[in-house]
Amino acid sequence: MSKRDYYEVLGIERGADQKEIKKAYRRLAQKYHPDRNPDDDTAAEKFREISEAYEVLTDEEKRSAYDQFGHAGVDGQAGGGFGGGGFGGGAGGFSDIFGDVFGDIFGGGGRRNPNAPQRGSDLRYNLELDLEDAVAGTTVDIRVPRHIECEHCDGDGAEPGSTKETCPTCHGQGQVRMQQGFFAVQQTCPTCHGAGQTIKVPCRKCHGEGRVRETRTLSVKIPAGVDTGDRIRLNNEGEAGLNGGPPGDLYVQAAIKPHPIFERDGRHLQCEVPINFIDATLGGELEVPTLDGRVKLKIPPETQTGKMFRLKGKGVKPVRGGPPGDLLCKVVLETPVNLSEEQKDLLRKFQDSLDGSNSHHSPKKTSFFDGVKKFFEDMKP
Ligand SMILES: [Zn+2]
Ligand SMILES: [Zn+2]
Repeated sequence: MSKRDYYEVLGIERGADQKEIKKAYRRLAQKYHPDRNPDDDTAAEKFREISEAYEVLTDEEKRSAYDQFGHAGVDGQAGGGFGGGGFGGGAGGFSDIFGDVFGDIFGGGGRRNPNAPQRGSDLRYNLELDLEDAVAGTTVDIRVPRHIECEHCDGDGAEPGSTKETCPTCHGQGQVRMQQGFFAVQQTCPTCHGAGQTIKVPCRKCHGEGRVRETRTLSVKIPAGVDTGDRIRLNNEGEAGLNGGPPGDLYVQAAIKPHPIFERDGRHLQCEVPINFIDATLGGELEVPTLDGRVKLKIPPETQTGKMFRLKGKGVKPVRGGPPGDLLCKVVLETPVNLSEEQKDLLRKFQDSLDGSNSHHSPKKTSFFDGVKKFFEDMKP
């Protein structure tokens, strides 16, 4: 069988650069990949052909040999058998092609070195806070379970003094090739789990993991003014890294517990203050709670229920700076209960003392019932 020209196979110019070669290969490989063309011998042959062309043309040495001598220049190396022992002599021949090109097509890990340092994961800790603590700021101790680097072996996994040896299964590659016909699948080595090395004597403290689980108590400073959803970052307090990589961070996420008196709305606070109808009528002084003690609030005469009073600066000082918010007090009229007969009599006398029309003392009520009257009159045909 005479071989087709590699450039022709990939449909590219002779002067094509690496990028163009890869692009062409990727396009064709996707089209003819055996996974997409099961039981199609023609597609399989095409896939073999384009893979071989790609392998030669992306290797500078082989490409120049091919350019000079044609297939004769590279056949000794590449033509030997695609399915056999990988083609390009180097241990990484075929796997490199897959790493480069298929890494992101088939969701594989690409060519990542299993022994490269890896940063540890970030951790999140949900912290519930009382409103008072959130507003004033506090320091809390939290217990965080996490992996930290094993001190006994410095994260190495091997018992100090012992040596690691190259994994006999993958010969240090961390990956093994599973052959299915001529189609090879890369898999993480089951013996060393991708590390490329096996530990002869595992560290007796971490059993070869390099990390140990530990629950550490951390003191976290909560700045004044934090609100639900705010996160405090503790650098390097996350999970330990792998292969000497840096640890992740710990995020403490605040959630403010409901308060029996105050409701928080950003930097403002709200509360309801009950008021009796005498104070509401005559005016008076109310004691109002704030986060830093009671304050007096002057209520003018003829205060209606639901009226809001704003106490400037009695809210929350925002964690990101700026002036403190306000405290909004809503007065709610409380109808007297448990009155004695004598007290009820006084109220009846009081009622009698009001003008017959009521309009003067209860303008709202009067205008409301005037409106109702008009409403029903308008309904009449
Ligand atoms: Zn291995
Ligand atoms: Zn250890």
